[in-house]
Amino acid sequence: MSTNTKRSTFFTELAGKLDGLREQGLYKPERVISSRQGSLVQCDDGRQLINLCANNYLGLSGDEETVQASIQATEQYGYGLSSVRFICGTQTVHKQLERAIADFLGMEDTILYAAAFDANGGVFEPLFDENDAIISDALNHASIIDGIRLCKAARFRYTHNDMADLEKQLQAAADKRHRIIVTDGAFSMDGTIAQLDKICDLADKYDALVMIDECHASGFLGKTGRGTHEHHNVMGRIDIITGTLGKALGGAMGGFTAARKEVIDTLRQKSRPYLFSNTLAPSIAGASLAVLERLSKSTELRDRLHENTAFFRKEIAELGFTIKPGTHPVVPVMLFDAPVAQKFAARMYELGVLVTGFFYPVVPMGQARVRVQLSAAHTKEQLQTALAAFAQAGRELGLIK
Ligand SMILES: *Cc1c(COP(=O)(O)O)cnc(C)c1O
Repeated sequence: MSTNTKRSTFFTELAGKLDGLREQGLYKPERVISSRQGSLVQCDDGRQLINLCANNYLGLSGDEETVQASIQATEQYGYGLSSVRFICGTQTVHKQLERAIADFLGMEDTILYAAAFDANGGVFEPLFDENDAIISDALNHASIIDGIRLCKAARFRYTHNDMADLEKQLQAAADKRHRIIVTDGAFSMDGTIAQLDKICDLADKYDALVMIDECHASGFLGKTGRGTHEHHNVMGRIDIITGTLGKALGGAMGGFTAARKEVIDTLRQKSRPYLFSNTLAPSIAGASLAVLERLSKSTELRDRLHENTAFFRKEIAELGFTIKPGTHPVVPVMLFDAPVAQKFAARMYELGVLVTGFFYPVVPMGQARVRVQLSAAHTKEQLQTALAAFAQAGRELGLIK
């Protein structure tokens, strides 16, 4: 192999950059799990750990009822469709799921995608052009940012969760034909819940549309788990909702956009990740449908999640850790320094608790943390064991007294 060609330096440069990440403690390793997802997981080194870092808010990912629903859908509809929706990839179960999501969210219609990343990637370009303005929270999810980049509309960014700045941006966008405010319903790194009541009032005042990404809300925020719009009592005032089937709503994969019929019909005709990507597997559609039926009948899982969240937030603060205040099951335990967050997560692993350190560029510089995510599946005993591990690792690293 020659050593001096451009082609070989391409690979050496990549290896050098990866070494740089490792040296700075910024390299993200992947834990390998050999069991189902759940409040307890088995890692491939044989260890059993309490899992505090899944988006498995309602505990449905490894849940037997969900698994059986997916097997039953596979039996009935087969493994896959080998087609996009508009050629020969639409089955009864896809139509039923779209109806069920729309009803659950209180929207008129829904379109499915392979992921919420695709829903956000494919929502702006078909609906808005250079005459329009998209006004986006500065901390919106990467997929929203990418989706906006794919669209010709003028871009306005408001300081995270800052309603005064949002109003300024609405004024700056006043001469545009249509304005749409876009925000994560709940922000996954901080657990912040967007102020949708105020956002909807501003939208009314400046004649703007509102879109929310409900990936960290659908299924458990609001008194019957419909999401941030229910939490803030603005159901019926949101124009577009995107979300995922890959977190609380079963945890496999898949995404959706819910809106008025004319919006959804337009997306079916024009949205590129829908038109040029395979239909959702029947097993996922069938299991998601079963999940929505279950959540529509009972708030038991949602209620247990919120009890677990309140308990953990109270106890971790009493230990002396700094957390971001709030009520969301995302609980950021702030450690500020990236290598400390890495070390802390590694020590927690030894103590039998799975948490992940987050640091720049996933969160702002100097804001490193371990992010705890509660689940309805956690037992009180598991949470107490995890809190004892937090106390021990915190003392060992001199973070608490
Ligand atoms: C996870 C997430 C997504 C992506 O969801 P996938 O279905 O996994 O692609 C999009 N937006 C937000 C806010 C998320 O948290």
